[in-house]
Amino acid sequence: MQLDRQSVAAHLRYLRELGIYDLYRRGTSANGETLNWAEPASAAVSISSREEPDIPPRTSFPSQPPVGALITPQGRAEALSAIRAEIGNCTRCALAAGRNQIVFGDGDPNARLMFIGEGPGADEDAQGLPFVGRAGQLLNNMIAAMGLKREQVYIANIVKCRPPQNRVPEPEEAHTCAPFLYRQIDIVRPEVLVALGATAALYLLGVKSSLSALRGRVHMCRERKLIVTYHPAYLLRDPRQKKEAWRDLQLAMSELGLTAPGPNAG
Ligand code: URA
Repeated sequence: MQLDRQSVAAHLRYLRELGIYDLYRRGTSANGETLNWAEPASAAVSISSREEPDIPPRTSFPSQPPVGALITPQGRAEALSAIRAEIGNCTRCALAAGRNQIVFGDGDPNARLMFIGEGPGADEDAQGLPFVGRAGQLLNNMIAAMGLKREQVYIANIVKCRPPQNRVPEPEEAHTCAPFLYRQIDIVRPEVLVALGATAALYLLGVKSSLSALRGRVHMCRERKLIVTYHPAYLLRDPRQKKEAWRDLQLAMSELGLTAPGPNAG
């Protein structure tokens, strides 16, 4: 992938935001770090209940065979539109009552990389687009640090309607909505999925586990590789964990064969 000066600058900005100034001087390349790193004890964080919702997993999902392999790259946008049409003015769960707009998902229907969050917040509910508020700004910076543009990835959520007061979606709500997301994954067929936070990890992997247990390795979900990292909203609350999140993004980049823009690139 060709890296331009803008993405290099964005990458360096994000690294500075992470407090990383000496990544290259130490002689470690951005994607050359040990990827199967064991989380050091000092990095263990106490994850808030929002990061680890107490939701019993359903045992039999998401294992439906993906049908997207039959859809041509040209047909993917249309296939996504068909799902959006099927969702309609949804009243399938209780979240319908409090939402302004359904936030379906956004980005390249042929993206190699897909980010999945928990559910829309106030800004997303107002604009009908995922990750457009403060957490979205940080996600944009994370994407830029990877040497990508937001338009090159696909972004969606476990639930498509804003939960009241941004609470964690109830299992009933997530189980009602997530099948549409699974179909979006099957159509886009990204090489790598990144689960942002514990709620996304729970409903994509079907296992309840702490983020620290899930991070740092490659899982599978619907025949796609899946990497778990912190939710950007959590990183806003605890910016010290941005360095850890960058490790997760490096793992995703390694799986995609991407190299982060370096200071001498461009
Ligand atoms: N948080 C999420 O999980 N998703 C969004 O779209 C915005 C904030």
